[in-house]
Amino acid sequence: MSAPSFSDIQMHVVRPNQPVIGKVVESTPCLKGRSASYVRHVAIDVSGTPLAGSFCVGQSFGVIPPGQNEKGKPHAVRLYSISSPSWGEDGNGNVLSTTCKRLIDETSSDDPEEHGLFVGVCSNYLCDCKVGDEVLVSGPAGKRFLLPEDPAKHDYVFVATGTGIAPFRGMVMELLEHPDGPKDCQIHLVVGVPYGTDLMYDDWFRKMEEDHPGFHYHTVISRPEVGRRMYVDQYIVETVEPFHEVLAADRTLLYVCGIEGMQFGIYKLLETLGVSGGYVTLPEGMESMVDCDHAAMKKVRPGDRCMVEVY
Ligand SMILES: Cc1cc2nc3c(=O)[nH]c(=O)nc-3n(C[C@H](O)[C@H](O)[C@H](O)COP(=O)(O)OP(=O)(O)OC[C@H]3O[C@@H](n4cnc5c(N)ncnc54)[C@H](O)[C@@H]3O)c2cc1C
Repeated sequence: MSAPSFSDIQMHVVRPNQPVIGKVVESTPCLKGRSASYVRHVAIDVSGTPLAGSFCVGQSFGVIPPGQNEKGKPHAVRLYSISSPSWGEDGNGNVLSTTCKRLIDETSSDDPEEHGLFVGVCSNYLCDCKVGDEVLVSGPAGKRFLLPEDPAKHDYVFVATGTGIAPFRGMVMELLEHPDGPKDCQIHLVVGVPYGTDLMYDDWFRKMEEDHPGFHYHTVISRPEVGRRMYVDQYIVETVEPFHEVLAADRTLLYVCGIEGMQFGIYKLLETLGVSGGYVTLPEGMESMVDCDHAAMKKVRPGDRCMVEVY
């Protein structure tokens, strides 16, 4: 097995209890057309702070929203995946970005009279921020969801649901746009969203696919207007070429990012294809499990070639 090695990375150079000020320099919609979701690409200039130059693609950073929670305490930090490459949006590591989805829901209550709107604190704050606004930030966080030190030694399967796409934007940039980046590796990005209009950075990924023969962009829609519902794990199992071969290869690294519930399907698919040994150690009896068993999930141990970031 070719286990990847990772370069030393920095973590927590700015703690959430002593955040620094970043300035929003870009906020643009990530979705095209009309969608029931609201997702923005938000870029924040952290130049002059310890965060500048210290973050790495695949890590996340913290945002501390202003105001207080219902207990009268300052709001807690929220983490957001960095969607820029390690050199930032500006090329010098001064501007990091993320892909922020507004959390908007109906309030959940047993009282039928209670049917207000639940509006997530930080995601809506960040999406509301205008260019020029100051934001309290911390980080970086995360030490495992990283690209390997020698990226040319590997091929990649990236699986994203929802805003799990964020780190893969930066990783695809880093692998394909760096002048010294790997030239011959194969990268498969599988993106799952409910509706076609929920695809994020879709035009950019399509352009990258046109320009780079080794990059393959797969979109999987779980609630299509016509046709069959499809989920990312189902898609990979059913799309024999190229996934079965690429996942069976020792040099392939698997990255999974997005909705927590996606893990079960991914682990099951690895087992179905008979390749789980390279990526995860699964608890006994998982092969016969039909629905996600949370106790069993806690016993899953990702291996060297599997990187998971779910929330
Ligand atoms: C490592 C990591 C990376 C992340 N990356 C990203 C990213 O790139 N992009 C992104 O958008 N998010 C990302 N997140 C999620 C992000 O940190 C926040 O959790 C998210 O933005 C929601 O925060 P909020 O403050 O808006 O919601 P909050 O105000 O914190 O509300 C969320 C809470 O409300 C509860 N809730 C939800 N609906 C209801 C309801 N109807 N009634 C009552 N309670 C409800 C939820 O259970 C949850 O506990 C990431 C999280 C982690 C851990």
